[in-house]
Amino acid sequence: MDKMILLKDGIIVPVDGKRRSFQGSVLIGGNRIEEVGDVRETNVDRVIDCSHKIIMPGMIDTHIHLAQALLRGCADDLPLIQWLNERVWPLQSTYDEELGSLSAELCVAEMLLSGTTTFLESGLHTRYGIDGIAKVVERSGMRGFISKMFMDTPYYARHRMYEGMIEDKDESMKEFSTLYERWNNRADGRIRIAFGARTPGACTPGLYREISEKAKTLDTVVTLHFCEIKEDVSFLKREYGMSPADFLDHCGLNNNRVTLAHCVWFDSENIARLKANVAHCPSSNFKLGSGIAPVKEMLDWGVNVTLGCDGAPCNNTYDIFRDLWLSSLAQKLMNPKALSAEEPLAMATVNGARALQIDAGSIVPGRLADIITIDLKPHHVPVRDPASAIVYCAKGSDVCDVLVDGEVVVENRVLKTINLEELMDDVGNKGLLPDKRAGRFL
Ligand SMILES: [Zn+2]
Repeated sequence: MDKMILLKDGIIVPVDGKRRSFQGSVLIGGNRIEEVGDVRETNVDRVIDCSHKIIMPGMIDTHIHLAQALLRGCADDLPLIQWLNERVWPLQSTYDEELGSLSAELCVAEMLLSGTTTFLESGLHTRYGIDGIAKVVERSGMRGFISKMFMDTPYYARHRMYEGMIEDKDESMKEFSTLYERWNNRADGRIRIAFGARTPGACTPGLYREISEKAKTLDTVVTLHFCEIKEDVSFLKREYGMSPADFLDHCGLNNNRVTLAHCVWFDSENIARLKANVAHCPSSNFKLGSGIAPVKEMLDWGVNVTLGCDGAPCNNTYDIFRDLWLSSLAQKLMNPKALSAEEPLAMATVNGARALQIDAGSIVPGRLADIITIDLKPHHVPVRDPASAIVYCAKGSDVCDVLVDGEVVVENRVLKTINLEELMDDVGNKGLLPDKRAGRFL
């Protein structure tokens, strides 16, 4: 019989589209939510006391770079192209499989401890050792979409890509098939293999179409960075004579299997035609000076906007609560009525589930038991509106318990699946990378 867990007597924020919250309990049977509300405590294997806690869906981060956790602090205060060409790519091109796994473990530990239960990886280079990274995710208990990077042209914008980051398309396709066979739907379905295409400039429309077709056949998702900076839009105009929406249509990318990271530079005409999901990454956009994505307008047009932390060199954390808060304030800059607390909350949970086509993101019977609790502290109370307390007051460090697929992965702020002391020692020993250009370690 399935293991039964009762999350007892908390403030439930179900994020079920009804804009409500209530006092009650959540009964979990196996990996699914069985009952929500007034639940009787009979025949349960375990009770987690949730008095003075908020119970909410686990966060779904739709744009992260697992391999960038070790690059935290290596590229502050630079604009995107310089940031990539002079810092991120030269350092990432020194990675081997050991560093790839170490970075992924650091990233996953941070995400779980701050309440993220599912991630969509943006795209992994073969040199990071994707097999090893999948093993890290399997062990961690997290749910994750692990994307293989694809490219068929060695350029980004007008710049030739850093040598160590260039990959061969046919080799990538072969590796994708092996990964898909070995890992897709493994770990009780927690691990999925996805397509992580590079930006236009590194991929031809033909490659995008091929990936899009394959994703449909294999029932998986596609992600890419898109219109992150102004130059991305002028590149499409100059190279293809197309607007962003024209280009997406042309490449078979304008559909609900595709998640576009950033979309900062989208005007009304293009937003109105957008059928793909958007991963909004406000911290990254602010820090790299890329701009503010027109999220309010996207939501008004019915675009499925989700939330992403991006990477450690541009955020510099994977604590999605910070992006949740900033996603709201960025839209309110000129209009305090732009968003209510419920909208960013949906972006970080149920909208992410819709983009990834998984049965999570809400506390509703039948859904996957990916749930977090937040214990209330002085900076949350009095709680007049729990959604407001989550969006405007909460921090990742307030997350108390994390359940993924019905398993308790974080209990009372202790991560059960990763030895943090060993991890910190490993990062201390190997975390600094040789920067050949600067002639020192970073
Ligand atoms: Zn990114």
